[in-house]
Amino acid sequence: MDQRTGLPVVGIIGAGQLARMMHQAAIPLGQSPRILADSADDGAALVAHDVVIGDYRDLADLRRFAVGCDVVTFDHEHVPSEHIRALAADGTTVLPSADALRFAQDKAAMRERLGGLGLPGPAWARLESGAGGLAGVEALAAQHGWPVVLKAISGGYDGKGVWVVATPAEALTVIEDAAAAGIALMAEEAVAIVRELAAVVARSPFGQGAAWPVVETVQVEGICVEVLAPAPGLAPEAADEAQKIALRIAVELDVVGVLAVELFETADGTLLINELAMRPHNSGHWTIEGARTSQFEQHLRAVLDYPLGSPEMAAPVVVMANVLGGPTDVYPAGIDERIHHCMARWPDVKIHLYGKGFRPGRKVGHVTALGDDLEIVRARAKAAADYLSLGGPDVH
Ligand code: ADP
Repeated sequence: MDQRTGLPVVGIIGAGQLARMMHQAAIPLGQSPRILADSADDGAALVAHDVVIGDYRDLADLRRFAVGCDVVTFDHEHVPSEHIRALAADGTTVLPSADALRFAQDKAAMRERLGGLGLPGPAWARLESGAGGLAGVEALAAQHGWPVVLKAISGGYDGKGVWVVATPAEALTVIEDAAAAGIALMAEEAVAIVRELAAVVARSPFGQGAAWPVVETVQVEGICVEVLAPAPGLAPEAADEAQKIALRIAVELDVVGVLAVELFETADGTLLINELAMRPHNSGHWTIEGARTSQFEQHLRAVLDYPLGSPEMAAPVVVMANVLGGPTDVYPAGIDERIHHCMARWPDVKIHLYGKGFRPGRKVGHVTALGDDLEIVRARAKAAADYLSLGGPDVH
């Protein structure tokens, strides 16, 4: 409890853009979150006052951080499960719990659990470590054909940790490299994906649930570049089914906070679950301006066990486009100059930059546009994001 405000203290482990945007949402709630940062120049550490510098893999650092927090939550899912359990055993409230978070940390455990609930996903198999793993890949290929998708069971992000292999020889190379790096693998059938969707919901300890409209996430080389809300042309029954799947997962896995369920849509309209995130997610950034309650505010409401806010959209169409670091040699004018021109050219588009250094391909921000017409809104968001990434028309 913060003695001065009388409000509970939320601790956030991790200081990337999600913590930065949670901090932003915390301000009107009267909150000043405490943030565990790797370094003082992490995105959220630059803006928060109550920052502890420490290593999220080190239990002593986590304990030092948790003192005085009424609830601890996350900006990422990389905190070792045993440390989360130790904090909980100390009496710290950690949300989501280690038991829930496990299914966002371990893709094989997630597939087993969701399969057990009868929820739809690709065919998959755990692989033996080393050359012995090839038999598992070949068995899956015998049933579902090549290519096969190999995945690191834990630790992947933005497509790192996912390999599409077309032959046994290619599979063996990935398997051997993974064994050498100590990475456990699983195999999945390669789904003929028509597009990717995300159902983002929130759940409170009290058991209240709220679902934002299902969105389409546009991926390029494993990185989400655009989010279209609501998912264009999605049949109402399919949207309903996706929301129900996400809310059911939140209940069954006892998730508290935001849960993003990434889904594949196939040609016949089937939805298959790809993976889960139990924190605010890139597919929900549009909610900051695009919904009555943003995913960041909702996550805080949920972990504080406050009633959830309305997930209703603020406009018929909302598009978010990520700003990726462009090649550093194409814009001698620099980002400050580009912000200036971007604001002048697209005054209705909202800019969010994360306080990160620009590296080619790195997610350094996003923009959001609202309106009535998908084509117009999408074009404006994309143009503004590309402009911030790459500079003026002369470099397009
Ligand atoms: P990450 O943890 O890196 O986000 P994902 O499991 O989401 O990894 O996979 C990254 C991308 O790889 C997905 O967005 C999708 O485009 C592709 N992918 C993943 N699994 C499959 C699959 N079974 N079939 C086809 N494509 C897949």
